Amino acid sequence: MAGGLYDIAEPGASTVKVACAGRAIGIDLGTTNSLVAFVKDASPQCLADAEGRMLLPSAVRYRADGAPIVGAEALAEAAKYPRDTIVSVKRFMGRGPEDAETTRRFTPYRFVSQSGPVVKFAVAGPREVTPMEVSAEILRTLKARAEAALGGELDGAVITVPAYFDDAQRQATKDAGRIAGLEVLRLLNEPTAAALAYGLDKKSEGIFAVYDLGGGTFDISILKLTGGVFEVKSTGGDTALGGDDFDRALAELLAKKRALTDEVLADPGRRRALLDEARALKHRLTTDVEAGELSRAELEEAVAPILTRTAGPCRRALKDAGITPKELDGVILVGGATRTPAVRQFVKEMFQREPLADIDPDQVVALGAAVQADLLAGAGPREDVLLLDVIPLSLGLEMMGGAVERVIQRNSTIPTGARQTFTTYADNQTGFDLHVVQGERELADQCRSLARFALKGIPPMSAGMARLEVTFMVDADGILAVAAREETTGLESKVVVKPSYGLTDEQIEQMLLDSYEHAEEDMKLRLLTEARVEAQRITGALKGALAVDGALLDAAERAEVDRHVAVLEQAVAGKDHRAIRERTEQLDLATKPFAERRMNQHMQEAIGGKDVGEIEKKVEHAKGTEHHGG
Ligand code: ADP
Ligand code: MG
Repeated sequence: MAGGLYDIAEPGASTVKVACAGRAIGIDLGTTNSLVAFVKDASPQCLADAEGRMLLPSAVRYRADGAPIVGAEALAEAAKYPRDTIVSVKRFMGRGPEDAETTRRFTPYRFVSQSGPVVKFAVAGPREVTPMEVSAEILRTLKARAEAALGGELDGAVITVPAYFDDAQRQATKDAGRIAGLEVLRLLNEPTAAALAYGLDKKSEGIFAVYDLGGGTFDISILKLTGGVFEVKSTGGDTALGGDDFDRALAELLAKKRALTDEVLADPGRRRALLDEARALKHRLTTDVEAGELSRAELEEAVAPILTRTAGPCRRALKDAGITPKELDGVILVGGATRTPAVRQFVKEMFQREPLADIDPDQVVALGAAVQADLLAGAGPREDVLLLDVIPLSLGLEMMGGAVERVIQRNSTIPTGARQTFTTYADNQTGFDLHVVQGERELADQCRSLARFALKGIPPMSAGMARLEVTFMVDADGILAVAAREETTGLESKVVVKPSYGLTDEQIEQMLLDSYEHAEEDMKLRLLTEARVEAQRITGALKGALAVDGALLDAAERAEVDRHVAVLEQAVAGKDHRAIRERTEQLDLATKPFAERRMNQHMQEAIGGKDVGEIEKKVEHAKGTEHHGG
């Protein structure tokens, strides 16, 4: 993992590479199943393995000797080798050990403690593997399948990721591709891939919902198409909801029907077998209304509460996109679990229309990825398509006092960039500590810490003189790069970034909910923080000025200024931001004559010394109105 997962790149440095020939593949690297597709004669198709199987179960088993086993064979013996068979590795991508800690209770894996910023599994061998390496085994298998089908070397791949994935998860996915020896042309959001597979980009405009229910995850996205250009308007979902929950509900039903004891169910092997049975029955009930022990009606009753849990994220995504179901032009079904008729019915009622399901919901994402790969490889006969996605949470910087200055807003279309200028808070400040955060709350300690770095070695200057230009760039893959440059000296940051991993989608969801719930108190706290910082800055500057030029005031004037300072300081100790603001203004007003006298005196001194530049600097300093970075 050279360089760490948060490479802070130079702004504008594109990560999109374009291959020259047309042998590029699309890969759906799923939590449960993965697929590879390729465009042949202008139409995308999924590639099967030697046994004719398209779906590759995302399972990898490590053996004490020999190459890892990937796919159905690994899954078949997962119960026998629970610790050496890694399933659902996608959940661990870009996660740190602390996050693994929280999942440890639910997984049979042995995690390597003290493994640094990345999770590591201890598997047979004895070996230690990262989620990137495990994913790379899946990618390697698909790559070999594609090479066999296409007869030779590949030029690159487009790999899909959930629209929700944060920077660390996207970087981890790219790293997995690199480990597998794939040239990752681009990471593509899964819903966007599905829309491409349906050729929706050929329509001139429309708004589409993509309802993706996989094995263990649920994702909902709203896409807007204008002039052949896609934009992800909003995303939502639940990372612990999917077809696996159907299996568990059905297994419980079977256990009840068969009057199985808890003792029987406590046995991992027996439980696994029961779940497998439940899944097989579930698949049968997709086409048949009866399957011996269970009927479709019973299945529908058992899964109804699970389906209901997808309603909240759907409504929120619609609300975030600012539309009603009626305004949609189409709904796309994605994910194996949407084959279940009850799911289709639910989606139909939720969005008030018949969903699009002509393309196999298992394959649709891989097919779309292949279309995009074909475009990037420049071989397709189609016109170029620009794909736009959004970032799920706002990105910003921590300010003096702990408030967050949002630099890029949530749901901004990517690629995107923003630049803001900050200045020093205190006199003779020789460095900036930059703290990049992600989230919707007003205070930095309530947001997720993404990175910290420092810019040091600025020559001592008066407060407000340094100009720090900070650039945020989010590239087409959704990866963030932050650069800082002090303008007056040209100093650029030697970036030291401490990656902090591990934000689960539930946490993203929770952070959004919190920001709504706490919006009012947060805003008050923020206003208070800002008012205090401003008041302290002004009183600090005033005290400094009085120490130098105090003689410009007579005793009565000085007493009046001191009184205002005392009143303001009292307000700062309190919690009323309005009072602080008012008194800050009063102090400002009361010290105007003093400020003018100082200005005149400096002018005179400067003109005497014919130093015009000095005057300009001082005038500017006296104004000092920018943001004040920490
Ligand atoms: P992921 O995107 O998480 O990799 P998939 O899209 O492959 O997952 O979906 C896997 C889920 O789809 C599993 O729960 C599986 O049981 C379910 N599934 C697959 N085929 C069917 C079917 N015919 N009827 C009902 N569910 C199905
Ligand atoms: Mg999927």
